[in-house]
Amino acid sequence: MPKNRQQHFEGSRHWPIGAVVVGLIAALGLGLGGMALLIGHGGAQKAEAAVSRLRLEDIPFDGQRAYGYLKKICDLGPRFSGSKGMEAQQKLLVEHFSKLGGKVLLQRFEVPHPRDGSRVPMANLIVQWHPESKDRVLVCTHYDTLPYPMLDRRDPRGVFLGANDGASGVAILMELAHDVPKLETKYGVDFALFDGEDFVFHPDGVYCLGSKHFAESYAADRPAYRYRWGVLLDMVGDADLQIYQERNSVWWADTRPLVEEIWGTARRLGVREFIARKKYEVRDDHVMLHNVGGIAACDIIDFDYPAWHTRADTPEQCSALSLAKVGWVVREWLAPSGRGGRQGGEGN
Ligand SMILES: [Zn+2]
Repeated sequence: MPKNRQQHFEGSRHWPIGAVVVGLIAALGLGLGGMALLIGHGGAQKAEAAVSRLRLEDIPFDGQRAYGYLKKICDLGPRFSGSKGMEAQQKLLVEHFSKLGGKVLLQRFEVPHPRDGSRVPMANLIVQWHPESKDRVLVCTHYDTLPYPMLDRRDPRGVFLGANDGASGVAILMELAHDVPKLETKYGVDFALFDGEDFVFHPDGVYCLGSKHFAESYAADRPAYRYRWGVLLDMVGDADLQIYQERNSVWWADTRPLVEEIWGTARRLGVREFIARKKYEVRDDHVMLHNVGGIAACDIIDFDYPAWHTRADTPEQCSALSLAKVGWVVREWLAPSGRGGRQGGEGN
């Protein structure tokens, strides 16, 4: 697809996560071309998208162990809010982060079930490192999964595992937890794993409940520390990785320098899958952090993922290499080691 045409469609496409109805209307509005791009985007974009030559052994972030975590999390089964799988995941994560020296808190709250109004228990899982620092950064993800694969053509009431949409961000935080205590960071680091991002039973349901609760608590009851930055990881494990800049993250003047720093870090390391151009506008947890919590927060998301919200979102779609690339960039942003990729910087 010629570049200007691609850019035209990119400029016209605002696919809020989950707001598929809006997306379909927009696609219809664009006519057949837009729809074709939506369905058959893979090839067109792959031709243009950058792929680095980095191999797993070139990257000093243990992608293999992170991928092991991703599988372990998926082995728990569906992990939607209030489910047995979520409970098992919480137990596993509390143990994992505590063992590595993090101070773990569960920020509990309840929401009415969107279907019958019954109370659903939720909990954001927060891990603090260097808790004495007053200047902090938040590295976050959601750890709940969609209750059903609502976009699955064959079985929208089937099993949804959320390997990329759920477990990938969790896996990177689990792996990063090995390094964070030793990192010489400018800021104290908090991890937040949000519940209720995807607790919806219909595409136009209410998303991002956990980050909303987190941001409201932060705004209402100002702690003694401040979050200087927030970095959200969502859908970061796709084996076919392309991470464009999310539009809100670039549009917000307070967040734009963060986007430039992170994509600049990726360029320095030769992780070309971080593509320094805007593409999707995604209504994700970072919007709550920014608009409700006043935190300059960006979204690192690969939204070119055909298995999104289908039964096909399984570990096989994800790779150790993609987790390694994203984890490495985030860790280098937290504490630059001054090194380039072993393949050498920008030339990859
Ligand atoms: Zn989702």
